[in-house]
Amino acid sequence: MSNIIQIHVDKHRRNLMKGFGAAVVAAAMSGRLFAAGGRPTAVVIGAGIGGLSAAWELLKAGFQVSIFEKEKYTGGRMVELQMGPLYQFTHAQMISGDGDELFSLADEVGIADQLAQFEFGKDRPRQILEQGVLNNGHGLYDLPSVWELAFNPKSAGKVPGLSTDTKKHLLLLQADMQAAKDTVDTCQARTATAFDDESIGHYYERILGDQAAGDFLPSVIQPYCEWWGWPLYETSKAALLPQFAAFEGAILPKGGIGALTRKLDSLLPVQNNTTVRYITPPGTDGRHTVHYLNANMERRSVTPDVVVCAVEAKYLDKVVQQLTPKQDVLAKSSYFSKEAVICYILDDKHAPNEYREVNYTTNHPDPLKARTTTAIATPRIPELNFPPHVRFALARSDTANWQKSGQTIDDYCFPLAQDFYPALDKKHVVDIVNYTCDDLIFMPVGYAKQMNEVLLEQEKSKRGMYFAGEYLAGAHTAAACSSGRSVGRLIVKHWS
Ligand SMILES: Cc1cc2nc3c(=O)[nH]c(=O)nc-3n(C[C@H](O)[C@H](O)[C@H](O)COP(=O)(O)OP(=O)(O)OC[C@H]3O[C@@H](n4cnc5c(N)ncnc54)[C@H](O)[C@@H]3O)c2cc1C
Repeated sequence: MSNIIQIHVDKHRRNLMKGFGAAVVAAAMSGRLFAAGGRPTAVVIGAGIGGLSAAWELLKAGFQVSIFEKEKYTGGRMVELQMGPLYQFTHAQMISGDGDELFSLADEVGIADQLAQFEFGKDRPRQILEQGVLNNGHGLYDLPSVWELAFNPKSAGKVPGLSTDTKKHLLLLQADMQAAKDTVDTCQARTATAFDDESIGHYYERILGDQAAGDFLPSVIQPYCEWWGWPLYETSKAALLPQFAAFEGAILPKGGIGALTRKLDSLLPVQNNTTVRYITPPGTDGRHTVHYLNANMERRSVTPDVVVCAVEAKYLDKVVQQLTPKQDVLAKSSYFSKEAVICYILDDKHAPNEYREVNYTTNHPDPLKARTTTAIATPRIPELNFPPHVRFALARSDTANWQKSGQTIDDYCFPLAQDFYPALDKKHVVDIVNYTCDDLIFMPVGYAKQMNEVLLEQEKSKRGMYFAGEYLAGAHTAAACSSGRSVGRLIVKHWS
């Protein structure tokens, strides 16, 4: 505990800590496991929530830690960024209610209150029209029940347009899903290995029969997969388990999704604008050399006792030379697609007077709606630094059409956004922010098993490099945090 208090006290020295040797200062000031001079050195690569959480555990235990982050900002995919007038989350927005490790970390660093549920003000009612709902053309249904439906098929009665026969078949899912839910740790997807034997599409077809599945999949499961860019017949059903369970009771944090990563950034020695080029295989002493470009674009290298690699899965085989065969299989199985998002910022005089959101299914009978994944219109929300705007995400199936169209994304999406929000008028648009972001990591059939293999290998004995992050735990922030913390503790155990 004493080390934590000291880190708090020391937070004003953050700028000093950002410099070379900062970790040594921090570790020396903290309670430590290791005798002076005997503190192992660790370089953590990637300052997403996975890397930050690992670094936190190492620093607490007295390691001399440095964190290398290629971006000028810290937090990876758990941040808000200023984009023009819009302060916006780029990837994650909500935190799983099951994230014990993440909430306890927020508590340790003194920001638990910022992770309380954000409440929309009375003057800006969330909803009124189509709040958090899915529209499949037969009617509207609540988004939370989309998660719930996969585990509690009795609730499927809420989905408009399902046949009675389909509803009957859905009851068959209950026992199966309940067994899975009881077994799987939503923040450690390796615990889903027993359910990692078939795709999501094949699973529902097997349990429900072709006809019922043909009715249910397009209304519930397919839109879910479409949001994340997951191919229905390739993605392991194991990928659903942490997701569905995790999103039950999910929290939109009062302090914004970046509250925790911002706080950790203020406490940890993150070196931003520092890009790791490659990490060599271990030398005879078991240590790896990290080759990087520093903030001045100078080539540098360092050979610490331990490296923690917490970059996105898509970079693993580019950054790490000579992955083990198991790591290589995992790295090659990970796949990211892109989501296209556009925000039309409005002047205050023409701000929507309430928050409204809708998610459409790609089989929506209205062809314009079928080309939309999510549409949101929001008034000014000062607490979230949102100016009034309409945010629109193109359906994955339409992204290729936009790319072929030769139009800019704002022109291409304008009529679609207007279909959702007819008051949208180009005259009132004061700015446009558009960005593409990664979709959620795609876990093909067999992925949870591969994840488990890599973790078992890494747990076996002390080594010079460890891996952490969502790709080893599950595709959400609480899982990435849990992965980072558990890998951090594992290293402490191995090196004690
Ligand atoms: C569209 C989308 C929506 C999501 N929504 C949610 C949500 O609502 N709730 C939720 O809980 N989760 C959500 N997630 C998942 C969540 O964002 C991730 O699981 C989590 O943030 C991953 O954390 P991480 O630390 O493993 O990886 P990252 O946050 O990606 O961190 C990796 C870091 O490594 C850095 N890096 C990479 N290469 C190098 C290099 N060579 N040198 C130095 N640094 C490097 C990167 O810049 C980055 O900062 C969403 C994801 C996506 C894609």
